[in-house]
Amino acid sequence: MQITRLDLDGTGSPEGLVTKILKAEPGLAPPVPIEALAAALDIIEIRELEAEGFEGSLLMDAHRSRGVILVNKLARAGRRRFTIGHELGHFLIPMHRPVKNDAFLCSRDDMRLWSAAEQNAYERMEVEANKFAALMLMPPPLLRPYLSRYGDPNIATVLRIHKDFEVSKDAAARAYTLYHGEPITMIVVHEGKVLRSYRALKAPRLSVEQGGLVPRSCIYWRTRGLTAISQLEEASSDQWLISEWGKRPPALYEQVLHQQEGYALLMLWPEFEEEDDEFDPDADRTAKQRLSDRLARSWHGRY
Ligand SMILES: [Zn+2]
Repeated sequence: MQITRLDLDGTGSPEGLVTKILKAEPGLAPPVPIEALAAALDIIEIRELEAEGFEGSLLMDAHRSRGVILVNKLARAGRRRFTIGHELGHFLIPMHRPVKNDAFLCSRDDMRLWSAAEQNAYERMEVEANKFAALMLMPPPLLRPYLSRYGDPNIATVLRIHKDFEVSKDAAARAYTLYHGEPITMIVVHEGKVLRSYRALKAPRLSVEQGGLVPRSCIYWRTRGLTAISQLEEASSDQWLISEWGKRPPALYEQVLHQQEGYALLMLWPEFEEEDDEFDPDADRTAKQRLSDRLARSWHGRY
């Protein structure tokens, strides 16, 4: 690698850093070699972390000239790479300072923080380190053209990102909602309850909160035991979405992948009516036709 920290001088935001890294290393392709990148940027060692309950740690010398990253030794490949990216983010963002002693020590909850209260400096640092890790492992200039190859929303593409970019399924699902372009929501379900969700910018708001039970009408309950990705099916939007007064709820489609240990990944994909019905070629389609069209579109992208 050609890059050195001089290439990053004067940059302090996750977006700015990733932009400069991509400029200095224009040949980067997925999976981004995060360990080699860390080494080029003065991380002299990556070793195992034994502290229970923590995913990662960063040690630095007094002048921040070199760093050592420690990673939970039980972490799987995707999470391990995210943790290295997260700690590298702390190292490269000059404003980041350890709150205790002279080391960053980050928990799994820290690595799931995507928003922080303005006055909470600790959380803001964790959010920035997460943004850096996600952007670095799945840089939008690489992810967008990749996604355009696979068309309409489908959990199959989340699994592809997981494999090709070597990130966890969770990280892949979040990036997918942000960069796909359709107003989708990805929900991580555990034992029938909503564990967390990732919404695209224009996705409708859910009426089911974190910790709430997945609606009884959901495909999730009908497909337990299925190990493959389910078909896309029409969902009951009034059970999932907050109804907006005076507006008809959108048609909603759902797809699920049951995973191990009671986890599942669920995708919601709303179809908003065209603003101008007069020129809507789909206006005369029945609900059944709409579903079959959507199925055809969604499965087209699989192979
Ligand atoms: Zn951290």
